[in-house]
Amino acid sequence: MEEVVIIGSGPAGLAAAIYASRSQLSPLVITGNALGGQAATSSEIENYPGFPQGTSGAELTQLMQQQAERFGTRVQMDEVSAVDLHRHPFVVTTHSDTLQVKALIIATGVSPRLLDVPGEEEFKGRGVSYCATCDGFFYKDKVVAVVGGGDAAVEEAVYLTRFARKVYLVHRRNRLRAQKVVQERAFGNEKIELVWNSVVTAVLGDDGVTGLAIKNVETAEESVLQVDGMFSYIGNIPNTELFVDQLELDERGYIVTDRRMHTSVPGVFAAGDVQEPVLKQVATAVGTGAIAAMEAEKFIAEMDGRAYPDRRW
Ligand code: NDP
Repeated sequence: MEEVVIIGSGPAGLAAAIYASRSQLSPLVITGNALGGQAATSSEIENYPGFPQGTSGAELTQLMQQQAERFGTRVQMDEVSAVDLHRHPFVVTTHSDTLQVKALIIATGVSPRLLDVPGEEEFKGRGVSYCATCDGFFYKDKVVAVVGGGDAAVEEAVYLTRFARKVYLVHRRNRLRAQKVVQERAFGNEKIELVWNSVVTAVLGDDGVTGLAIKNVETAEESVLQVDGMFSYIGNIPNTELFVDQLELDERGYIVTDRRMHTSVPGVFAAGDVQEPVLKQVATAVGTGAIAAMEAEKFIAEMDGRAYPDRRW
């Protein structure tokens, strides 16, 4: 019997692990297909407190993991294939185990939204990418396009100028959504060319990507942008397929929680991007992870008939 299982190893999951392990619950973190979640793929994190010079998502993940393990967290590189939340203890099935679980913390985060155009799937990993930190290096002196106008698209476009000789930023409107400070960095970078009011209608190529078919949404004019790669950052969708019909989800598929991270099933908590449809920040994710862990501890104490110590830290 596991006391606390945490699904997901992004900032929310690892913060929950730090708190749960400091409460001597020896939590088990099931990482998902990669340690660190989406934050780990961020090239530059400049707004997480305590890092005045900024840090990378990979470094931050590593530090959080070390901190969690120091207090007794077990990190299992594995994926959850099914959960049964209709009975208690909950049943969590992974590729290698079937676990009985007293309290479950879901921190499965979000995945990149797909453009859903011809060629996107075909060229995935061969010129189509959703992670500049992972793949940027392959585009040394090449030409790439970044699609999107939010913080992620603009930040990663700037990051890609370290490698690429030219970066097109293709956005469907004539104003970026990204924060001003981020926008200014893009406007001030001579390697970046904005392609306004434009959507990608197809990814073109042979062995790899050779171009993007683009349509101007104002004029309906169609053209081809010659590029060697496309990085798409057009938002995210929550990873909640495992919980459909078991937990209350909102109309966009995010897990509904109260302010203490309780889901619609007692003993199941959710933290981080998977329950936060608006502000997707490492700083907020770790806060909700901490709350979820303390509430899980409280749930277990009450279940075991123990008084929950109000002031623990
Ligand atoms: P956002 O949802 O903020 O932005 C998505 C962008 O993609 C928007 O510009 C949107 O256009 C565009 N878009 C959406 N759908 C399509 C489509 N089908 N075709 C073309 N374009 C499309 O996502 P992000 O991933 O950028 O950010 C997610 C969250 O993470 C935000 O809260 C953001 O602030 C946060 N974040 C913060 C960072 C930081 O603080 N340093 C870094 C990275 C992310 P439109 O503008 O027209 O809607």
